[in-house]
Amino acid sequence: MSNPVAKLSFWGVRGSTPTVDPATWRYGGNTPCLELVAPDGTQFILDCGTGLRMLGSRWGSADVADPPEAHIFVTHYHWGHIQGLPFFSPLYVEKNRFQFYSFRSKFLGRDSLKQVFEAQMALPYFPVDFSAMSARRRFREVDGGETFLIGENKITTKWLNHPQGCLGFRIETPAGTVAYATDNEPGDPKLDKSLRELAVGADIFINDAQFTPSQLATTRKGWGHSSWREGVTAARDANAKILVLFHHDPDSTDRMVDDLLNQARNEFDSVFAASEGMVITLGAANEPVQAHMPGSRTALRREAQFRACVSGVTAEGQKFQEETFVRDLSIQGALVSLKHSPRMQSELQVTMETPGTNGIQEMRLRGYVVRIEEGVEKGTTAVGVVFTD
Ligand SMILES: [Zn+2]
Ligand SMILES: [Zn+2]
Repeated sequence: MSNPVAKLSFWGVRGSTPTVDPATWRYGGNTPCLELVAPDGTQFILDCGTGLRMLGSRWGSADVADPPEAHIFVTHYHWGHIQGLPFFSPLYVEKNRFQFYSFRSKFLGRDSLKQVFEAQMALPYFPVDFSAMSARRRFREVDGGETFLIGENKITTKWLNHPQGCLGFRIETPAGTVAYATDNEPGDPKLDKSLRELAVGADIFINDAQFTPSQLATTRKGWGHSSWREGVTAARDANAKILVLFHHDPDSTDRMVDDLLNQARNEFDSVFAASEGMVITLGAANEPVQAHMPGSRTALRREAQFRACVSGVTAEGQKFQEETFVRDLSIQGALVSLKHSPRMQSELQVTMETPGTNGIQEMRLRGYVVRIEEGVEKGTTAVGVVFTD
């Protein structure tokens, strides 16, 4: 018999507001949205940030026989956690069924989440009439400290320390336990305890890591967010196995997130920085937890360098071709070290040798130049490229 397996996908990992700055595309700019498919097939969606739109477009293309029912947990009503809702195309398909879970806001009262839907789609803020959302939607109000079952999965909710409130969700599946604690600030003894209860023994503990420890102690104190260091402390106290740094600050570039991750890795054995497109498998045989990026491009280790042949056009309009290395490879792009300096926005062809399932394989990618910086080695240029195919 094969082991029960759960799959956790990250569709949006950015805090507060989406970013489109090329310096943030490696970790990704969509606001929070996670998907967890439990071994019994129950589908959970955690938060409805702009990452939800991407999840929705894949949904449309999937060949689903039965009307899918998904369980959607909304942690709170700040923009970054609800703004994907009007753009989630499965909500406009009659056969789809959704069960929403969130808390009664003291600012909204009864049916808080339903009101959020209506307000977001009210004229003149959104062009489509609310009644066009024809999927069946049911709403369940939950409070902090509740425990209930969905399928064979045990759900626990806890209040977290955040302006206007935020719920943490713990999902225990037969393949492993995920604790989701976005948007929380340390310092309230009662809620610090809640956070640890939420994360106790979790296989995956996803925690707010928006600020640096020094920002958290000074200029960003009271803003309702946390740091990698607080995440490490809570993970240790709770005996969580893997810490995932989440809710990256919109002003944090990929390099800055790399830095936070490295600092956290010096303090705790198993830390990831959440990255758009990242998938974590729980409960796979022999390896209790595996993390990888989906698709051929991204099944590669980000830290690795790949030998590549790059051709393009220089700023002076000359064609060039050179052998080099590619690093920071992700679903959206890569950083390429070149002796030539290509023209901004010009097209680059990148041919790489990458380890595939059947040994080394050649991969051809096309993209355009979005960033040019001085390279690490003397006389080289670091070129950021966004892939178009
Ligand atoms: Zn947030
Ligand atoms: Zn918030």
